[in-house]
Amino acid sequence: MRLSQMLFVTLREDPAEAEIPSHKLLLRAGYIRRIASGVYAYLPLMWRVLKKVSQIVREEMDATGAQECMLPQLQPSELWQESGRWDTYTKAEGIMFALSDRQQRQMGLGPTHEEVITTLSRETIRSYRQLPLHLYQIQTKFRDEIRPRFGLMRGREFIMKDGYSFHPHEESLQKTYDEMDRAYRNMLRRCGLEFRAVEADSGAIGGAASQEFMILAEAGEDEVLYTEDGQYAANVEKAVSLPPDAEPSAFSEYEKRETPNTETIENLCQYLHCSPTQVVKNLLYRAVYDTGKVVLVLVSIRGDRDVNQVKLQNELTGLATAFDATAVISLDVPSAEMQQKLTKQPLPLGYIGPDLLDDYIASAENLQPEFLRLADRTVVELKNFVTGANEIGYHVVGANWGEHFKLSDRVVDLQKAQAGDRAVHDPTQRLQTARGIEVGHIFQLGTKYSRAMGATYTNEQGEELPLVMGCYGIGVSRLAQAAVEQSYDKDGIIWPVAIAPYHAIITIPKMSDKQQVEVAENLYRQLNEMGIETLLDDREERAGVKFKDADLIGIPYRIVPGRSLKEGKVELVDRATKKSQNLAIDEVPSTLKQWIEWVTNK
Ligand code: ATP
Ligand code: MG
Repeated sequence: MRLSQMLFVTLREDPAEAEIPSHKLLLRAGYIRRIASGVYAYLPLMWRVLKKVSQIVREEMDATGAQECMLPQLQPSELWQESGRWDTYTKAEGIMFALSDRQQRQMGLGPTHEEVITTLSRETIRSYRQLPLHLYQIQTKFRDEIRPRFGLMRGREFIMKDGYSFHPHEESLQKTYDEMDRAYRNMLRRCGLEFRAVEADSGAIGGAASQEFMILAEAGEDEVLYTEDGQYAANVEKAVSLPPDAEPSAFSEYEKRETPNTETIENLCQYLHCSPTQVVKNLLYRAVYDTGKVVLVLVSIRGDRDVNQVKLQNELTGLATAFDATAVISLDVPSAEMQQKLTKQPLPLGYIGPDLLDDYIASAENLQPEFLRLADRTVVELKNFVTGANEIGYHVVGANWGEHFKLSDRVVDLQKAQAGDRAVHDPTQRLQTARGIEVGHIFQLGTKYSRAMGATYTNEQGEELPLVMGCYGIGVSRLAQAAVEQSYDKDGIIWPVAIAPYHAIITIPKMSDKQQVEVAENLYRQLNEMGIETLLDDREERAGVKFKDADLIGIPYRIVPGRSLKEGKVELVDRATKKSQNLAIDEVPSTLKQWIEWVTNK
């Protein structure tokens, strides 16, 4: 491609709308343009990158025997009603774009395709002989994200590869899941990315395995906790750890103490000269179930620990049937205003004890009249602890479970693991923290959708059983931007060769120099014929401008027919290292070919 004929618009200044380097660079270098919040046009250079990423993904998927297909983006609401996800995906903070057609039928734009694929499998899979089966597609997804940001990282329209596998039993699923783990590692390695596979939250599906693939980068929205020994890595949403040991309590007598102005753990500990590890703090949450039922949740946790809301949400989802519901649609700490509606009298905030009376709860039709009391594991072993006295300005000290307070029967792991905690698999290992960009997620769904939607098969014994399913997603457009986030310098993007829009760029320093133009044109033709994808910068611009642009767009190799032409040589510059060498003109094609093969086959 000749730059003189290309839609090629670079910006000298950082665009104001962008916060992180990769977003700034893709805008500045003319790869993308914003059309609306979270909606981007992929310009020709970007589209080439996306096609390369897609092709690597496709090759690795095909190698496992998965079959490519294309499913509809326009999906009827009935399917989502069947799976029970229509309301959670379209109401409150739901992310599905919903619309109605001219006959007033409700439809949604596909944020994901479990419903569509499960319907297909219900209609087409009859027998164990057809299993296992794995279908995938590479397609635009729509999600009305609450906070679209960082360009392609969190868009409302983006490209994803999603695959769904069907199995007769768990072992078969496990096999495909393991193959996908390997395939995903291959994809990311081939794209030239540094990544980490981590244990991930799988929602409330108990025991289901799920793993995320994280591109390590400062701008990542996710926190990863891992150990140096390489044995453990998890998304903080899922991570488990051993908290520091509690310090022995300074209190041996149970008594109520006046503790003015001690709403915070810090103030309380200062006032009582005790450690936060001796305090049982009691936190109030409000959960709203899909039936509209509102439940007030009281969580008791050790004073030095925080609640992991994802774990809490999973726990509450697991309890949904107790409230005739199937899902939690929102979970929050109720605001002061909200508390007024939920309670008969003001709560003793900052002084709440585990035994806070249910009488506080207002009587309202949809409001559960009792607190749902949960205890985090960190409080179970505490002796002679400090906790709220349910009265403003007062705490109790020297308290014990069984004696002064009843420990909830629901003891669960709700604490947020943090850097510095000891690892569960080996307490001598400490958790370390890193930021990551989630680009892929593989997930054992089990029979969640097949049961809900009645997708069954007949086994060898003639029994009808629900299909066992897995799903596997990788964000093609997010991955492409993450590659930039991991590889750039002050002058611009440094594309990994395998996904660069072009391999090489020939920059003609002076268009009026006939010899320069002739050598450049010859090389341009020759390289492209050999399959080395080459750009020709034949614009009437100053050499300095052209060099800056080449660096900005990040093409791996630059060829300059300049001063060294006198000796029959051209300059060859490596974008990543900025190293340059003069090479005989006829050696350029074979040298480049070797370099490209070497780095893309690594
Ligand atoms: P996140 O936690 O970042 O919102 P998710 O858990 O919703 O992601 P999945 O449903 O597992 O994502 O989708 C699979 C992949 O699709 C993700 O790993 C990510 O690479 C990509 N992806 C998801 N949401 C977006 C988005 N809004 N913009 C771009 N890529 C996305
Ligand atoms: Mg995810």
